[in-house]
Amino acid sequence: MRSMWILPIFQDQQFVAPGRNEVVWNQSPHFEDRPLGAVVDTIVLHHTAGQSLAGTVAWFASQESQVSAHFTVGRDGSIVQHVSTYLRAWHAGASLDAFGRSSVNGFSVGIEIDHPGVSGVPYTTEQVEAVEHLVSVLVRRFPIKVITSHMFVAVPIGRKIDPIEYPWHTLFRFGVEIVP
Ligand SMILES: [Zn+2]
Repeated sequence: MRSMWILPIFQDQQFVAPGRNEVVWNQSPHFEDRPLGAVVDTIVLHHTAGQSLAGTVAWFASQESQVSAHFTVGRDGSIVQHVSTYLRAWHAGASLDAFGRSSVNGFSVGIEIDHPGVSGVPYTTEQVEAVEHLVSVLVRRFPIKVITSHMFVAVPIGRKIDPIEYPWHTLFRFGVEIVP
């Protein structure tokens, strides 16, 4: 008989970046059920405007932050998952999408990209590849129809600018609508 594993939630776990295209789970306490009947069809990209991957991981894990995302991608291409994609993470806040739908968190997957959030700092090849890797998995798991930016969906308009200067063309090949 096979044993069952229940993943424990460590509040003070030591974070170690897993490396390029590798995934590690670091649970955030900030999530809830998705709305009844919600269809996950949207991916929202963000930059962290933070100092480091470890800093973002600690922020999402802290009780005080009241924010989370499903994934954060480090500059070395490390992927950290904070919330199950079947649950609602708290990344987009007050929001309205290209189809006139509000509360985008309810039907989206949020991907944070470790980046200082200032103009002229390129995203690394490793993290752009890691985002492509995540998108390639998500479009198979969910009926994704659009990949958009926090800047586009945030309300009021101008509240957010992320992910600044992201190379959106790297996502064209997935055949879903890109709304930067
Ligand atoms: Zn954002």
